[in-house]
Amino acid sequence: MRARTLVKPALVVALASPATALASETSSEEDADRGYKTVRVPYEHPELWLSALTASPPSRVIYLDGCWDGGCDIDVGTDDSGNRIEDAREGFSSIIDEPVVIPSFTHGEESFEEIAACVRRIFGPFDVEITTEDPGDDPHWRHLMGGYPSDAGFDANVMGVSPYDFEGCRAIPNAISYSFTELVGDDVTTLCELAAHELGHSLGLDHALECRDPMTYLSACGPKSFQDEALECGESSPRSCYCGESQNSHEILMTKFGERAGPGVELEVLAPAEGAQVDADYALELEVTSEFPDRVEVTLNSQYREVLEGSSPTFVPPADISDGVHLYELVAVDQYDRRAEQTFSVTQGAPCSGSSDCGDAEECVEGRCVPGASVDGGLGAECAADDDCLADRCSIDPDQELDDSPAGVCVEPCGLGGADGECPSGFSCIHEPGAGDEGAGGRVCYAERGGFCSVAPGGSTGAAPVVWLVPLLFWLAMRAGSSRRGARGRA
Ligand SMILES: [Zn+2]
Repeated sequence: MRARTLVKPALVVALASPATALASETSSEEDADRGYKTVRVPYEHPELWLSALTASPPSRVIYLDGCWDGGCDIDVGTDDSGNRIEDAREGFSSIIDEPVVIPSFTHGEESFEEIAACVRRIFGPFDVEITTEDPGDDPHWRHLMGGYPSDAGFDANVMGVSPYDFEGCRAIPNAISYSFTELVGDDVTTLCELAAHELGHSLGLDHALECRDPMTYLSACGPKSFQDEALECGESSPRSCYCGESQNSHEILMTKFGERAGPGVELEVLAPAEGAQVDADYALELEVTSEFPDRVEVTLNSQYREVLEGSSPTFVPPADISDGVHLYELVAVDQYDRRAEQTFSVTQGAPCSGSSDCGDAEECVEGRCVPGASVDGGLGAECAADDDCLADRCSIDPDQELDDSPAGVCVEPCGLGGADGECPSGFSCIHEPGAGDEGAGGRVCYAERGGFCSVAPGGSTGAAPVVWLVPLLFWLAMRAGSSRRGARGRA
């Protein structure tokens, strides 16, 4: 993927890959063949499972417990008949052999809240609350975070552990799971993904052989989320899933909890007013209303991007930005990944009426200066997907699709009611071809087509699409040949 050289992030989020693979969840002797150990709850207590089956789910609350008040006292869960049970409310755990005290989380409250926000993101699609406040007598799943595995009687290299229903893959109501955070270290992403992993076992999920899913042992592939696809089960190589031929962790959790509802977040621009004439030193004052606010993503004229935090963030446009209409795309995101989006515009100085009013390598679109075709991802530049374009819009003419790699052109939104500058020479403000009369996202400045190839805006770049189409065809032909050879080699 192309680097966005014009991006100016104000917030740098460290996304370190889990340094220690979850593969060391355990390596106890008796489970060496599986490479892990999640202790099985004895099956001879049908009421436990019956409640799991009938109350689907038994609760919509997950409690992340830092054991802050001098540690968590956890007792061996045993009912009157001597069967092992789980009860997060009473502190009963079925997978320990004697009463234990899990020490407090030592990596700080700020870090703990970041972990909670990350776990909320991972469980974002599903209607389940992630809280750091003790739900008391209300049914909940409880994830303890503190200490070393030895504090709970596990082998020294066990990073986390959870009860798991190997036979039915059902959620275990009120289950207690553990992350041994002194052993794991203070990396927020690792601790977050480990918590999601262990909670996943309590909720009935097996190990998935897919690095992007939290139920994996694999690491170093970016942030994890429950994948909506049928995955093989396994730790480092495929094996049969305990329940079913494959596992779709997203679908399983969606069946248990349903989809998360509610907007979750609202966004308001307090100043300046929509459509206002502003001076060069103006700033955008925003207000976010949310129980779990996370961030506001600001994009200005498809070229300046910034991520803001807090409930009253301010965006200051870069000092060197061109005069003209300033079109903002604002996205407020809460910790569960719910979004509130809006567009907003003001005019600094006068609207541009042509590219001569704009900076080098910029074009004028409806009074605003935007990156042109000579800029990677700018208006008229070649693309294969939306992500290749600064405006996140790659227009692909369905008549021009080549193999599975269509030739596209980056476009800009237009027809927004701004100044009458409309689109630059060589572009028309139309509904995208193939997107229907309504267009997928309104009208765009679309490169007028000449025969087989698209025509880029005027000037020296006019012939560019013709030039690059030929090597593209050649490259596609070469690639098709090499992938066929590769397939034969593996067979
Ligand atoms: Zn596991």
